[in-house]
Amino acid sequence: MKVRGKLGGSESVVDVLIADGIIQAIAPADWSQPLAPEDLGDQTLHLAPGFVDLQINGYGGVDFNDPATTTEQIAATVRALWRTGMTAMCPTVITGSPAHINQCFANLLRAADEFPEVNHALAGLHLEGPFISPEDGPRGAHPKQHVQAPDWNQFQHWQDAARGQIRIVTLSPEWPEANRFIERAAAAGVIVAIGHTAATPGQIADAVSAGARMSTHLGNGSHAKIDRHPNYIWEQLANDGLWASFIVDGHHLPPSVVKCFLRSKGIARSVLVTDAIAAAGCPPGQYKLGDVAVEVLPSGRVNLPGTPYLAGSALEMHDAIGKTVAYSDATLAEALQMASENPATLLGVTEQHGTLTVGRPANLTLFRWEQPTLSIVATINGGKLVYRHTAY
Ligand SMILES: [Zn+2]
Repeated sequence: MKVRGKLGGSESVVDVLIADGIIQAIAPADWSQPLAPEDLGDQTLHLAPGFVDLQINGYGGVDFNDPATTTEQIAATVRALWRTGMTAMCPTVITGSPAHINQCFANLLRAADEFPEVNHALAGLHLEGPFISPEDGPRGAHPKQHVQAPDWNQFQHWQDAARGQIRIVTLSPEWPEANRFIERAAAAGVIVAIGHTAATPGQIADAVSAGARMSTHLGNGSHAKIDRHPNYIWEQLANDGLWASFIVDGHHLPPSVVKCFLRSKGIARSVLVTDAIAAAGCPPGQYKLGDVAVEVLPSGRVNLPGTPYLAGSALEMHDAIGKTVAYSDATLAEALQMASENPATLLGVTEQHGTLTVGRPANLTLFRWEQPTLSIVATINGGKLVYRHTAY
């Protein structure tokens, strides 16, 4: 099959030739050859690599953090995410009891065993917690009773149960045990991310020296009020050893902060994540987040009902890209890069995900761009058309 569209954020129209699940060629559009019925696209649409989300807790009513979630539900979630342009993800399990975390990871791995589409989408697992700050504010919505100091043996137990698939662990370096843990995790090839932290600037710097490589949803999971400087946000922004992920949904970070954060961290080290919860992809209304009632407002904001407090994110990646262009001076091409190539590069999975490259798997999405609205038209996963908008 052939897919025609503007390459990434550029104006150059190309034909992407796909066979056997692989991109066979990318060439300037050949207008002498009409598109066949099985072909897709046109010169008004854009093409990009399928999006890669390093942090997603659930979607479409399915919660990866619910031990009762079935493998069928997880597979349905992967299929539902195709309509947001996403083709790879790191399902994220947050702070819980050891048995709870084990069960949630086991469910995801079993889903990957049973459903090829889940196996294809799984770019690693993300353990967010439980080695985070116990303080109110930085801890966010993570349950306090299960927050604990970094414990390598405990992590190894989870990693063994997860068959070595935990690729990211988000922790706080404020614990005295943190640096030894970070050294071991880094040596084992696990990406250590700093998040939900009350660490001092010195502890942040030491964590990076020990091997920490990323900041998780920088600017969120923090105190409501902190010293203007120094503080853990400036320290992470300024440290060129750290990549950073951002939740650009218009609720977690004000537009001016998105603009400043992206400029100072730089496009090359920035990653867009959804941090979506089960209520993402659902209409406005009342939902449950674990045992907690949450409300999705018509604006897409997820609140604790009747309060102004955020209870999670209902962000979809295509929307994060549009908002990033609207709020910052990032171009469409740069916003796409932060949603595909950058996370794939950080994870080390560019052979499979995050780029449009001849000889590599055809994971791509076709979309209409009416700034700032990015509408997914079709998604191709492993060379197969898996989603096509009904109006297209
Ligand atoms: Zn978080």
